[in-house]
Amino acid sequence: MIQAVRGTKDILPNNSHVWQFIENKCREVTTQFAYSETRTPIFEKTEVFKRSIGDETDIVNKEMYTFEDKGGESLTLRPEGTAAIVRAAVQNALLSQGNLLRTWYFGSFFRYERPQKGRLREFHQFGCECIGSPNPEADAEIIMLATRLLKSIGIIDFKLMINTLGDEEVRGKYREILINYLHEHQSELSEDSQRRMEGNPLRVLDSKDERDKQVIENAPQILDSLNETSKQHFETVLTMLDSAGIKYVITPRLVRGLDYYCHTVFEFQSDALGSQDSLGGGGRYNGLFEALGGKPAPSVGFAMGVERLILILDALDKVKELKSSVDCYIIYSDPKYLAYACRATSILREAGLSAICDLHRRSFKSQFKEANKYNARYAVIIGDEEIEKKQVTIKNMTESTQVVIEIENLANWASNS
Ligand code: AMP
Repeated sequence: MIQAVRGTKDILPNNSHVWQFIENKCREVTTQFAYSETRTPIFEKTEVFKRSIGDETDIVNKEMYTFEDKGGESLTLRPEGTAAIVRAAVQNALLSQGNLLRTWYFGSFFRYERPQKGRLREFHQFGCECIGSPNPEADAEIIMLATRLLKSIGIIDFKLMINTLGDEEVRGKYREILINYLHEHQSELSEDSQRRMEGNPLRVLDSKDERDKQVIENAPQILDSLNETSKQHFETVLTMLDSAGIKYVITPRLVRGLDYYCHTVFEFQSDALGSQDSLGGGGRYNGLFEALGGKPAPSVGFAMGVERLILILDALDKVKELKSSVDCYIIYSDPKYLAYACRATSILREAGLSAICDLHRRSFKSQFKEANKYNARYAVIIGDEEIEKKQVTIKNMTESTQVVIEIENLANWASNS
């Protein structure tokens, strides 16, 4: 037997409805916010990710599925969504059609990570990008959208952590302060952090290594280095979140893994997830368009991990409630009534209901069991009497009531049920 590749998972017929539930919610919520979908290819030129995510990041350093195609070009399976969206927006001049682009995506992404619960090598993300506005109201809109999605799928017990990285001036100043501090504590840091310290000191704050945690705990905070513009930007975001009733925790050491962020960064966490507790996150990225050869376009976005959303729904026991159902299960007492059953099934489908009948020629009793297995709302019963009188008996499976309908009137019944 050939097994699926390590770190990948099949989405099977018995739980694809949970995925569809989430996908439908993503569509509903993005429609409420007037975001349109973008679908980019699964692979891109490697440059797209190298130039945007940053050479010093784990993603680019260790986790990308990069290969040469037969023409000798270096290609990479997309490890995240934003870089590809920006590449597509630049290439198709999407911003010249208007000054703002609100877009979302849903799809699979690839990272060569050590698989564990909630961490895969092929995983799925839902993400949104608000492209073209430098203003804090765009940051607030993106966070409101992400929050709305979580609530709409039934996840209310999450933590929103938020921080600001300030603008370039702030980051430059803070970088120096941080490097000086890290130098003083160099010997206490992990090897990884000692290496990162010079090239990308902010990433040290992201470290999960126990040796680093103590040093990070006492490190100077970027919030103390903010200039007036950055402070105002952050405060406006927070005021807007307050007015929308969204709770957050200001987390000074939240810097997020990717290099391209500035100003607002945020992350959603859930205790239901265990050690991989991040549900999703995002932030503002003002320099990314230029890094990918476009005109400047200040933007903000987020991505959520769909597998992790499902893990939470599972932990909250909500997956059971999402059991898929069929409207009508047609049950016939004798195979000689198959044609009549087929006619009834067709009428119901024509009227817009979902309707199935047994394909195994099972006994009457077993067909009822099947109807329950499919979670049918109605059993449409065809026996000798129904055939004789050109009728069907319709049993409401939840209320256990039944009505007898002329087959002539079945379409009419279906459109009212
Ligand atoms: P990132 O693009 O790293 O900011 O990740 C955004 C979200 O995607 C995370 O919070 C996770 O929910 C999800 N995610 C990232 N990497 C993985 C992975 N390897 N497996 C499953 N989910 C992931």
